[in-house]
Amino acid sequence: MWSDDLWVLQSPESPRKANKRDFPKWDKFPWLPRNIARTLRPEGELMSATPGTATTTAVSVQNLRKVYQRDSLQIKVLDGLNLEVAQGEFLALMGPSGSGKTTLLNLIAGIDRATSGRVIVAGTDLGPLSEGELAKWRSRNVGFIFQFYNLIPVLNAVENVELPLLLTSLSKRERRERALTALNIVGLADRSKHYPRQLSGGQEQRVAIARAVVTDPTILVADEPTGDLDHQSAEEILTLMETFNRDFHKTIVMVTHDPRAATRANVQHHLDKGVLSN
Ligand code: ADP
Ligand code: MG
Repeated sequence: MWSDDLWVLQSPESPRKANKRDFPKWDKFPWLPRNIARTLRPEGELMSATPGTATTTAVSVQNLRKVYQRDSLQIKVLDGLNLEVAQGEFLALMGPSGSGKTTLLNLIAGIDRATSGRVIVAGTDLGPLSEGELAKWRSRNVGFIFQFYNLIPVLNAVENVELPLLLTSLSKRERRERALTALNIVGLADRSKHYPRQLSGGQEQRVAIARAVVTDPTILVADEPTGDLDHQSAEEILTLMETFNRDFHKTIVMVTHDPRAATRANVQHHLDKGVLSN
């Protein structure tokens, strides 16, 4: 489950080769087949990179402006915003309704284009990418978690989770195996054949999380992931996100207006009047 070409970047200057102790999490998931364990490897500290060349910044947003044009009206939403998210960080973005949280998240995820400024994710400057390149980049690098889950109603749980893998070169068998692994991790292996309408809101969101992580993305972005859930289900979702952050070293940017949810993250920023504060 570990290999010689994985390196631990304690700091960019002093990388060391990975050893068995760097993979404690697999003990928690004994059902993970070896090949899948490798594809769901932690991205943050462990990289198959040349030592010293890897970046430790997951997201760098520089002087970002976003202005929406509605008829003759210009709506200035982001106004020279700067943000750095370190690899392996779990960031909560807070702010009042209409402050631009979703706008910022969509720009980081490459769903929308900035009016000006730069968005660099895992070393890729999103600005110069064509629409096609951006779509390809998104499918490899970003896992989305939405407030209302956005599952496809006519597909069952495992088919929903498998969906992003259709864009990869994996075989049908590999896709199914990986989707089932992701469902296992979110605790829903026994619901793989259930359709969204047969699941509770919390279970639907867990399927959505499995779908978000199944491609082993560089970053997870979540827009009010607990906004439609009761307290107990919300806690479960947040615990799951903590697990992906802590045990799988996933970088997470989560938008929330729930202060309790935000405390589960390790960094909090507030969005107000188009810029961020701590
Ligand atoms: P939040 O997620 O913090 O509630 P949003 O990012 O959704 O805020 O919206 C920020 C502001 O931008 C709001 O005033 C909203 O009406 C406006 N806005 C968002 N999307 C668009 C759009 N596609 N066209 C015009 N205005 C928009
Ligand atoms: Mg929003």
